[in-house]
Amino acid sequence: MGKMLKTSPDNRKCMFPNCTHILSIYNHDVYCHIHRGQATQAQGQKHKVLTRPHS
Ligand SMILES: [Zn+2]
Repeated sequence: MGKMLKTSPDNRKCMFPNCTHILSIYNHDVYCHIHRGQATQAQGQKHKVLTRPHS
């Protein structure tokens, strides 16, 4: 049984300021599930997606 799932290091904390959530080893993101959504939303507001109309 040498095949292992690729996991992230143990005991990583969420990168969000003042958040002490410990990330799962299966969570390869830098944010916990709560702040991952918030960070994504913030980025979406900064970078507006330009929609091109079909010609
Ligand atoms: Zn967090």
